[in-house]
Amino acid sequence: MKKKVTKPIKRKCYSCGKMATNPYVYHVVPALSYGEEIPVYSKSAPKTDRITLRGNKKVDVYNYCNNQCKSDRPPTCR
Ligand SMILES: [Zn+2]
Repeated sequence: MKKKVTKPIKRKCYSCGKMATNPYVYHVVPALSYGEEIPVYSKSAPKTDRITLRGNKKVDVYNYCNNQCKSDRPPTCR
């Protein structure tokens, strides 16, 4: 049997634009305003923490080389 080789993940850094290997991934979960519809989750879905449950409709994912790049250009900059 062949050994499975784990491919390194490469993502473009949101801050500097370089291709980062095994990037620092930052998820932005927008908070829903009160009264907004909460999406229904399937039972088979992995357990999510409370913050994720509040608004999983649209989760933004930002990739960075590291934490430094993240502080250089925080996800809130659009
Ligand atoms: Zn970077």
